[in-house]
Amino acid sequence: MIEITPKKSLGQNFLTDQNIAKKIVGLLELTANDFVIEIGPGTGALTGLLLETGANLTCIEIDKRAVDLLNSKFPADEFDNLTICHDDFMKFGIKELAGGKKVKIIGNLPYYLTSGILFKIFESHRCVDRAILTMQREVARRLTAKLRTKDYGILTVAVNLPGNAKMEFNIPPSCFYPKPKVMSSVISLRFDRAGRPDSEYINSEYINIMKLVRASFNYRRKTLTNSLKGFVKSFAGTEMDALLSKAEQNDIDFFSKRAEELNPEDYVELYKFIKDI
Ligand code: SAM
Repeated sequence: MIEITPKKSLGQNFLTDQNIAKKIVGLLELTANDFVIEIGPGTGALTGLLLETGANLTCIEIDKRAVDLLNSKFPADEFDNLTICHDDFMKFGIKELAGGKKVKIIGNLPYYLTSGILFKIFESHRCVDRAILTMQREVARRLTAKLRTKDYGILTVAVNLPGNAKMEFNIPPSCFYPKPKVMSSVISLRFDRAGRPDSEYINSEYINIMKLVRASFNYRRKTLTNSLKGFVKSFAGTEMDALLSKAEQNDIDFFSKRAEELNPEDYVELYKFIKDI
């Protein structure tokens, strides 16, 4: 039974299949020592299962009706491992909440906000251990795309710089109320770069590297020589011609390629080259 009338404007498609809910929560492999953030708990399809693990859970929900419902389902005097915040996740400080610890994030996302939520998580990746997120399949495909395909783009590079994304399983519309128009997918994200090259550099320069990635994909049919003229000028204060001759001297051959031909490590190398010019 659905206890509140779903609002389309808030992306409310409530999960009604208990087995799927269990499968999603199981992917987070929670113990009582974990610290978890649930984005958009809604009527609590995942919340009760998360609480059963004994983990410390903070839920962030924008809809006051859902917050009131959750408070009555999970009263504070019975669930001392739960904090329910009536808040907009986009205004919420993951880092402040984590307070130096690594958090796990879970959510069946409101699809109107999927990209925004993903970038917010990526930008806070240093305090996130992993995330299990349900989203529209089209976005899941972009996160897990292969080099030189039409789905390979800003999102693919954005997740693979600090971590990686894995497609777990699909969920048909019939498992939600109301049924979304699209197929959904559960994605797991991990942000453990220990031992990978350049991990400290990527941590500290992530936001700037992403500016380069966005500029590169802005005109994805063009070569980087053409698409990056503006970025090179504004970021490094240099003309493209000067950069190209320096690139030739240093055997850097990215500029004749298109954005979708560079892997995430190439973007780090290209960023360093432009920054150090
Ligand atoms: N977790 C529930 C479930 O699986 O049935 C609800 C999922 S529903 C797809 C998305 C939820 O995100 C809704 O409860 C909606 O109110 C909430 N939401 C939408 N925008 C939000 C925002 N900016 N911050 C926090 N929650 C939001």
